[in-house]
Amino acid sequence: MPDNLFKIITGCKSTSARLAELALLHGAVRTPVFLPVGSHATVRSLTPGDLEEIGIKMILCNAYHLYLRPGIDLIVKAGGLHNFMGWGKPILTDSGGYQIFSLSSLRKISEDGVLFRSHVDGSEHHITPEKSVSMQQDLGADIIMALDVCPDSGSKKADLARTIPVTTRWAERCQRAYHNNGQLLFGIIQGGIYRELRGTSAEQITALDFPGYAIGGLSLGESKSDMWDTVDYTVKLMPLDKPRYLMGVGSPEDIFEGITRGIDIFDSALPTRVARNGALYTRKGRINIRRFIYRDKMEPVEASCKCFTCSNFTAAYLHHLFKCEELLAYRLATIHNLFFMNDLLDEIRRSISEGSFKEKKMEFLSNYQTTHEDKRIEQKIRSAEIKRGKEFTDC
Ligand SMILES: [Zn+2]
Repeated sequence: MPDNLFKIITGCKSTSARLAELALLHGAVRTPVFLPVGSHATVRSLTPGDLEEIGIKMILCNAYHLYLRPGIDLIVKAGGLHNFMGWGKPILTDSGGYQIFSLSSLRKISEDGVLFRSHVDGSEHHITPEKSVSMQQDLGADIIMALDVCPDSGSKKADLARTIPVTTRWAERCQRAYHNNGQLLFGIIQGGIYRELRGTSAEQITALDFPGYAIGGLSLGESKSDMWDTVDYTVKLMPLDKPRYLMGVGSPEDIFEGITRGIDIFDSALPTRVARNGALYTRKGRINIRRFIYRDKMEPVEASCKCFTCSNFTAAYLHHLFKCEELLAYRLATIHNLFFMNDLLDEIRRSISEGSFKEKKMEFLSNYQTTHEDKRIEQKIRSAEIKRGKEFTDC
């Protein structure tokens, strides 16, 4: 990786937070950054113009979903993922490892790759590290991810231990299959919540000299203290001069905790998923706009918010739209939550630059009521969607 691709601008004196700039094919991105999830080449209910207006600089799409529908060939025919979805800014694609292990059935992992059944139509597929890289290179994302084995959160240590060398050998094969055309291929460190396994994985993956590294396999149901212990331990084993990506983490309080530890990139479907369920972020915590108390609140969801939704509509109107299950509800709520996240990251980057990140964190967390029930609610939504026969796609 040439020196100028990831430039650290300034570091925080009292934490490991850092402000940096990552040069990508479709433009430079300042980190720390949060990526909204657009599994099917769309951030649900929003247009690329909406994302631009919110100020989003980069999004995540899932190679697994795009491979199954509409198919990589079709996206190549459209001129690549950026052209296909009408988004000109950077994209990161997930290799599909997580989705294969969380969504599909009949998984058979061998040294060669993974055999699985599509969660859409039950068809059988075989993905190898080479195929995963080739798919992502064809899609044309700015950052692509090595294929990894991403076991369930409840996996036993001995079972997890067996997958670590497989993930390493797959990472090597991804690297060999990769043709350098300016896309950045990141390696993924696995190992569950076990220090010994994270240590082995971090040592082996960082030895491969990727231009960036991700911590995978967290935020899958383990306790927050286990998650942060693991990040604390793992991040110290990652190179200082390369971007660090914490996969699947994205609640406002977790963003602060991750940045404190030196994480640069986050992604999560949480802000958009909960928005569609009527949960809206405010500086005091998350509110449920469906509640009766918002029925006649003739003010925006948050008076200080400059988003399109709060600039034009009252909480009462949003409450009404949700009660009637109007499609506009999902769009307006998603705009607000993504604006909230983007605005927060803007403030955080500014605070790091001004040397006041620690104060910013204290100020935010002293006002923000964290939602301890995030996990429970997520699981509830997830199981409800499955019960209704809807596929659970933005994971
Ligand atoms: Zn707003």
